[in-house]
Amino acid sequence: MRFVLRSYFFKSLHRLFYPKACVICRLALIKQERQICAYCLRKLPKTRWLNPQENPVFNVFRGRVPIGHSGAFLVFRSGGITRKLLHEIKYKDNCDLALWMGEMYADELLQTSRPQVDFIIPVPLHRRKQKQRGYNQSEAFAEGLGSKLSVPVCTEFLQRRAFTQTQTRKSRWERWRNVADVFVVSHPEELKNKIIMLVDDVVTTGATMEACVRVLLNAGAQRVDVHTIAYAKE
Ligand SMILES: [Zn+2]
Repeated sequence: MRFVLRSYFFKSLHRLFYPKACVICRLALIKQERQICAYCLRKLPKTRWLNPQENPVFNVFRGRVPIGHSGAFLVFRSGGITRKLLHEIKYKDNCDLALWMGEMYADELLQTSRPQVDFIIPVPLHRRKQKQRGYNQSEAFAEGLGSKLSVPVCTEFLQRRAFTQTQTRKSRWERWRNVADVFVVSHPEELKNKIIMLVDDVVTTGATMEACVRVLLNAGAQRVDVHTIAYAKE
């Protein structure tokens, strides 16, 4: 009890002298603001795609693997706001930001396509990577989405087998080969005839998500929808 009180005391003291800053402009946040100040919030580059089957993410998978609905919350441009946000989520352990992105994206989806799905499944990180980072950013995004859409998030059905090296400097073929065999489904009976929303942080070439969609459909899923925090043009 004493420890809890003391850490709370120091936290409050810390907040008093070092108030929380907006993750984009670094100006101090006011009490009602969460992570992003009101000014930056208005400038978020939301995709605002209205058609879940006719948009750039859908086109990434066209002719490769059949997907149901698709979408992304933000557009990624080099040097833009989305880049800052993803950096904060991936390298500064800002789990709450990923969670909130999910909540905000759910609000957007509820206004447009109202997805009807049975489960949300985040693209898994390898255990070693998750240990390094402390959490899976796609899982936090999924939790935010799930809480607002009232859909359960399931992390145990899709697993990553091998440790893959970072994808950034590889060609499309190398990336595809690198991820094609690393995902496995456990409990396929739970996925039979289910509609699944697969989520990840960014979609660019779509190699990782394509591999996941494939194993989920092979396991008997009826339909797999694909949604991400951000869409980056290749
Ligand atoms: Zn700001």
